[in-house]
Amino acid sequence: MLKEKIKQIRLGKLSVVENIKGYLDKISKDNKDLNCILVVNDKALEEAKKLDTRIKSGEKVGKLAGLGFVVKSNINVKGLKVNCASKTLEDYNGTYDASVIEKLLAEDAIVLGMANMDEFASGGSGETSGFGVCKNPVAKDRIPGGSSSGSASAVAGDLCDFSLGSDTGGSIRNPASHCGVVGMKPSYGSVSRYGLIDLSMSLDVIGPLGKSVEDVELVYDIIKGKDKNDATSWGEGGNNRVVKGVKNAVKIGILNFNAEDKIWEKVLEQIEVVKREFSFKSEKVKLNYVELGIQTYYPIVYTEFFSGTRKFDGRKYGKKIEESCGEEVLRRILGGGEISKAEYGGRYYRKALQAKKLIEKEFEKAFKKFDVIICPTVPKLPHKLGEKISIEDMYDYDAMTVLANLAEVPAISIPCGEVDGIPVGMQLICPRGKDNFMLELGKRFEG
Ligand code: GLN
Repeated sequence: MLKEKIKQIRLGKLSVVENIKGYLDKISKDNKDLNCILVVNDKALEEAKKLDTRIKSGEKVGKLAGLGFVVKSNINVKGLKVNCASKTLEDYNGTYDASVIEKLLAEDAIVLGMANMDEFASGGSGETSGFGVCKNPVAKDRIPGGSSSGSASAVAGDLCDFSLGSDTGGSIRNPASHCGVVGMKPSYGSVSRYGLIDLSMSLDVIGPLGKSVEDVELVYDIIKGKDKNDATSWGEGGNNRVVKGVKNAVKIGILNFNAEDKIWEKVLEQIEVVKREFSFKSEKVKLNYVELGIQTYYPIVYTEFFSGTRKFDGRKYGKKIEESCGEEVLRRILGGGEISKAEYGGRYYRKALQAKKLIEKEFEKAFKKFDVIICPTVPKLPHKLGEKISIEDMYDYDAMTVLANLAEVPAISIPCGEVDGIPVGMQLICPRGKDNFMLELGKRFEG
């Protein structure tokens, strides 16, 4: 638990150098195999030494003093490579700190390095990275999931205290589920996107991954809040807790949705355990339009991604994207360009936004009755590394995670056991703005 570690560091029982050097050593040993970190911060040890001196002299230090974290390579960190795991941005160095990074550094956390990912966050397996596939430390012959593959793999492989990812349609929760760690997608706008290289600006959220819900909460409480640099951000900011505790008879809606039986079994088992212990109630719930999630999500992503990538024309940032990117990114650019053609007058994009609204309304309605909606995070087990699967099958991984992005609500993936030695996660989805309630509730569901 990170809270305990922070205490040890403050009391001088564990030095920051010990903590950070421990991770750097582990990275140099294990990362050759895992390939979850693309760039190591060569100033990390120096920063650790400085912090130790401050602690020894009795200076007041930040809430995360001495913790080491890994950052997805699409979040700007000044002086480090922010390449989105793409050859397009191979030589791009962050020129400023994203708001989330500013906040974490202000609390004296230390950046260990930049994480591998699916190229430009376009993918769900970790295989589309321009710098080699990242491995799953828990189920080594399987994909780690994505697109925040390295962020999840680094936490699962114990190469950092926590990490940051971004989630457009499941990219934090999906790899968290496959690697057996906790991953949170906050409500849309509750964390500033300033400094995130976007995949789809109306769906993207930055969020934390960690070994426990409590660890994830610790980080979320620092990064959340309104930011003057992001007009879509909101919230009270600071660390005011929205909810103090979980009221007794929490009502769980179990989402009626197709997923592999063995995965549902694990999820339902865990729900039963929690219901017994805390006297929660549950009921099956059917939401309209949720089976249209994928068809709604992808046109929005393609269109917004196409528009967002026009700046990568080879003049200011690295190379021209169409000439240097991988197959999946190119598919989205060409597809997005097609959807955006003047002759269609925005017809498909607008339709997708209408469907998004319908899904949002369905959730709103359901949350009048339920405090939380639960389902598996991913409907199927991760495929074997190197196994070729169709694009449709690849997009199907996202069927249950895209819903929270479309509805703009918070969701979290929590490990709930293993199927054939492969971790599976359960997904808790809560009403917009109830992020802290969701975290509080999530602690009850940890096995
Ligand atoms: N797998 C989804 C996609 O490829 C999700 C990506 C994400 O959340 N960044 O778009």
